Amino acid sequence: MPTLTLKFGGTSVGSAEAVAQAVDIVAGIARNQRVLMICSAMGGVTNLLIEGAQTAAAGDGARYQAIAHMLRQKHEAAIRALVDSDVERIALHDEVEALVDEFETLCYGIYVLREASSKAMDKVSSLGERMCVPVVSARLRQCGVPSCSVSASRLVITDDQFQNAGVLFEETGAAVRRELLPLLDQGVVPVVTGFIGATRDGVVTTLGRGGSDYSAALLGAYVDSAEVWIWTDVDGVMTTDPRLAPDARVIPVLSYGEVGEMAYFGAKVLHAKTVQPLVERGIPVRVKNTFNPAAEGTLITREEHAAPGTVKAVTAIGDVSLVTVAGRGMIGVPGIAARTFSAVAKRQANVLMIAQSSSEQSICFVVPEAKSREVVAAIKAELETEFGRQDIDRAWADDDVEIITVVGVGMLRQSGVAARVFGALGEAGVNIIAIVHGASDYCVSMVVRADDTPRAVRAIHKLVVLNGDAAAR
Ligand code: ADP
Ligand code: ASP
Ligand code: MG
Repeated sequence: MPTLTLKFGGTSVGSAEAVAQAVDIVAGIARNQRVLMICSAMGGVTNLLIEGAQTAAAGDGARYQAIAHMLRQKHEAAIRALVDSDVERIALHDEVEALVDEFETLCYGIYVLREASSKAMDKVSSLGERMCVPVVSARLRQCGVPSCSVSASRLVITDDQFQNAGVLFEETGAAVRRELLPLLDQGVVPVVTGFIGATRDGVVTTLGRGGSDYSAALLGAYVDSAEVWIWTDVDGVMTTDPRLAPDARVIPVLSYGEVGEMAYFGAKVLHAKTVQPLVERGIPVRVKNTFNPAAEGTLITREEHAAPGTVKAVTAIGDVSLVTVAGRGMIGVPGIAARTFSAVAKRQANVLMIAQSSSEQSICFVVPEAKSREVVAAIKAELETEFGRQDIDRAWADDDVEIITVVGVGMLRQSGVAARVFGALGEAGVNIIAIVHGASDYCVSMVVRADDTPRAVRAIHKLVVLNGDAAAR
């Protein structure tokens, strides 16, 4: 019997009603399939945990206690509404209580030290998923589905890059097969914590915000799932962020490449690494709405479907910074770009896009805003001699920018697509600061002023995505 991997995000397990709905969906599917379930923390919980640790680090000894109270209330209310058995209720109560106590102890330590290391942040932020999965699993049992909860710290083995850990694939594959296959073989639905992992020594790590999608893909790949279904609070992957443009539409089919670019460049609906573990095995992903399960959702597969030239989506990503290194003496001087990027790499800053002006008088690239000061300082140190000789005049970071990306297979082979995009921006009066055209065959990215982003996204969505869609039909 094939296995289906089903992941439910924060909103999909955000309240007792939502958990009941998610469990109904799983119970229905589990009647004739093997099911592996992955859950996020209840909606809002991860944010509260992080806020508790951050306020404690800043010297506030009261906020984390108030948050602990809210966490108890939220989970206790869910337990009361979802589970009838007294024995189950008492066990769940003890489990949640122990985790909230752990939160308070950790925050107290952070408060005393006035410091939250990234290791401590991972320990704190992992608690939400750990509080949630036992409740969901108990509800499944109540509905007659054999189930147990499993912490991914025994399954997803990672390096020690806390808050954005890298997965050790072989060890993870072995652990997942060893722990989960016997359960699936017995007809049990394992409910596994998304988002979290652990180092070889068992120290808790996380896969980055929104990482439960990636967890589901990893676990789904290693149990040889037929498909991975991401259950969320919208009808599928949409032509743009529905909060930015209410006329956004669901995209029925997408390729791994297209969705990979969308997620990387800001479509929050999927974590950027989600498709990676699935590509090699060709495991399809479906994105579906927990609150509207009848809707088809989006199917993501290896195949590329679309007439070349079809622009499928537009995304935006903020919290980035445009770093520019400029100087007349840069013309023809070999190695400046290489040294610039080696200075960036030493700061472990992820370069999201690179653009170079044709005169070679400047290099510009985009890094996460949190790294921009460090990166500029590192470049100034690395190129000190060139600055001294005035071959380079300036290196600076502009934090007031965002990246807009237009996505669609074969877009670049079709002449005129970029012109339509730039035309839409012109009509909306948006100035383009930098462009990358051709980093992959799936997308064109532009840097614009942060203030211009909503207008720019709406203009491209209306004039290029929806219009192009109409033209393609
Ligand atoms: P979950 O908790 O289920 O993981 P997220 O909040 O992480 O859900 O992601 C779903 C949200 O992503 C949607 O509610 C929507 O507001 C937002 N979103 C942003 N861009 C897109 C897009 N292109 N398609 C669909 N949703 C998007
Ligand atoms: N709970 C985690 C977060 O809020 C992971 C996830 O929801 O995917 O970031
Ligand atoms: Mg998410």
